[in-house]
Amino acid sequence: MRRISFFTSFVLLAFAAACGSSEPEMVPGLKAFVGAELFDGESSPAGASVIVVRDGRIEAVGPASQVQVPEGAETIDLSGKYVTPGWIESHGHVGGAKGLDTGAAAQTTENMENQLTLYADYGVTTVFSQGGEPEGAFALRDGSSDPALHQARLLMAGTIVTGPTPDEARAQVDADAAAGVDWIKIRVDDNLGSGQKMSKETYTAVIEQAHKHNLKVTAHLYYLEDAKGLLEAGVDLIAHSIRDKEVDDELIATLKEKNICVIPTLTREVSTFVYESKPTFFDDPFFTKLADETVLVALQTPERQAASQRPGPQTYKKQLAVASANVKKLFDAGVKIAMGTDSGPPARFLGYFEHMEMQMMVDAGLTPTEALRTATSDAAACLGLTDVGMLKAGAWADFAVFDQDPQANIANSKTLSSVYVAGNLVPEASPM
Ligand SMILES: [Zn+2]
Repeated sequence: MRRISFFTSFVLLAFAAACGSSEPEMVPGLKAFVGAELFDGESSPAGASVIVVRDGRIEAVGPASQVQVPEGAETIDLSGKYVTPGWIESHGHVGGAKGLDTGAAAQTTENMENQLTLYADYGVTTVFSQGGEPEGAFALRDGSSDPALHQARLLMAGTIVTGPTPDEARAQVDADAAAGVDWIKIRVDDNLGSGQKMSKETYTAVIEQAHKHNLKVTAHLYYLEDAKGLLEAGVDLIAHSIRDKEVDDELIATLKEKNICVIPTLTREVSTFVYESKPTFFDDPFFTKLADETVLVALQTPERQAASQRPGPQTYKKQLAVASANVKKLFDAGVKIAMGTDSGPPARFLGYFEHMEMQMMVDAGLTPTEALRTATSDAAACLGLTDVGMLKAGAWADFAVFDQDPQANIANSKTLSSVYVAGNLVPEASPM
């Protein structure tokens, strides 16, 4: 605290001096965020910090004793606050729903922009949308390198490859590649025995074809045996927890050897059964402030509650314990975990669910700092991103500002007070 108050007085003195006769000219695009304690994505340098931003990217970051505020910078005082890199959502979806509506209203650019703003309002500043985006998403993805950006950055998987034959699947991969997707997405699942699962022959063809296009493949799955088959076929990312049984040494060894990450999406399981009664989070102001009241009413009707009480959702509810234990076991074994929720479809509340996911990972046994890594530096590594997820020179100035330290208690993530993308303050989205 002494360092902060000393630093604050120093800034005030400097500011007073600057207001004298020789006031320096402000440099457009140059900002300095001063006084916050940092978690930089990997570690936490002690004491008050300075983050210098030029044209949306971090020019310098570090302790106030080492990083000077350049002349002409707009100075934003964050004394007493805590800053983390903006979180990376490794499994979200945009353009699939507007509230509970999955029709044309969901697919507009306006809705997707609002979703990306809402993600950012909750500190999620990069979203990997894992498939099913409307055409307009490509332009939003391409706009992610604009220094004036003030919503979440977007990566996308485009049309989910379904096959069913290897030849059809290869053609679908070619079409996605031609459209310019960032990843290829497949689903290898029988939806608890109710559907036809993609064959190993087909997903092997998808992975080979994607790799020919230099595209990586992310896979939806449920079963341990499918995870092993997918890894053998060369899959690059596991998009959900393994939920049918405890992960074994063989799987762990393969994940580590091939350096493949796992995205838990624990809140995806929650979303299947939690509306069986009124969810406790419906009374959380951090949720309700950006939630559409009509959606909350619709999710509390007897019909909706009955739907969540069916055998399918109740199976996911039971298997959530397996999913959570697997996250901890994989993490402890050294498998890289990337925070992801599968948010965006109806009743999977993007933005808020990421905070719930972080709490659930901590409940599963990760420390708050470990959980924060899964949403920042580890997620960036898992997605092959080098200029987000870290507060370092050269990275985009994407960060979240908290009143209380989320490293001390992950629930403090709900003291989020402001969010910046490319150094720009994120405005408030319309509730949804
Ligand atoms: Zn998904």
